[in-house]
Amino acid sequence: MFSLEIDEIKEKYIESGKIAAKVRNFGLKLIKPGVKLVEIAEAIESEIINNGALPAFPVNISLNSIAAHYTPSLDDKTIISENDYVKLDIGVHVDGYIADTAVTIKPSGKDKLIECVEKILEESIKIIKPGVLISEIGNIAESIAEKYGYNIVRNLTGHCLERYNLHTGFTIPNIRNNSTHVFETGKAYAIEPFCTSGKGYIKDSSELLIFCWKKNTATRLYEARKILELSKEKYKGLPFAKRWLEKDLKINKFLIETSLRQLISSGALHPYYVLKEISNSSVVQAEHTVFVEEKPIIITL
Ligand code: MN
Ligand code: MN
Repeated sequence: MFSLEIDEIKEKYIESGKIAAKVRNFGLKLIKPGVKLVEIAEAIESEIINNGALPAFPVNISLNSIAAHYTPSLDDKTIISENDYVKLDIGVHVDGYIADTAVTIKPSGKDKLIECVEKILEESIKIIKPGVLISEIGNIAESIAEKYGYNIVRNLTGHCLERYNLHTGFTIPNIRNNSTHVFETGKAYAIEPFCTSGKGYIKDSSELLIFCWKKNTATRLYEARKILELSKEKYKGLPFAKRWLEKDLKINKFLIETSLRQLISSGALHPYYVLKEISNSSVVQAEHTVFVEEKPIIITL
């Protein structure tokens, strides 16, 4: 593949970031008590497409102690309640250049926990410059969380982004660490602290709604072959939702479930299990994507 000039790459990041920010703000207005998660997710993904971009992953709408990886299926009946912590995490790509952004909203009003995670994100992105150690992010994040009296979710991190690759290279921890990696010019990074009043660890639940292509494997099931083809060709190896298959395949959902199970056990698909805080406490998140150069650009601001 020929590589684009750095200015062209930067323009694409700026474009995807602008759309991601616009769509995030659009999505925020839809989050009201009584509204179904699936309505919100569908409206946001349509809005991404209407703006000339594509979702880089299914819209995540994770409530309360669910930290991430929740996206509703078509028949999901969950509705927003007044006191829910609603984490809206949106990924947009333009030609594979991904903008990743998240925000937490509580319909009854912003509280200290949300304030804390927003402050951490704000202070973290301020220090980013080429050559700055990524361990500086952890120092800032953990010390702010301590001041507020909350815990960082220790096993969730920020990450590097590359074309058609959402999580690549090293991680960007939100806790004190000894990483020797530095921010580099011309690269994009997602900074994403998570805070909680609970223990500060997440674990996989058994619920599974998001997947991505890993490798081709032989399968006798026609529907499984079809899913594998979609995951590679249409979804480009990026994460996709069971909901997308429900729309793109128009087949019985039990057949979809069976095929997905088969593809996971053969190692063809990677499963993104719904992540839950271990002490069942509410988790909040805030995220921006930063394109680094002498004057870094927070593309999703
Ligand atoms: Mn995200
Ligand atoms: Mn991210």
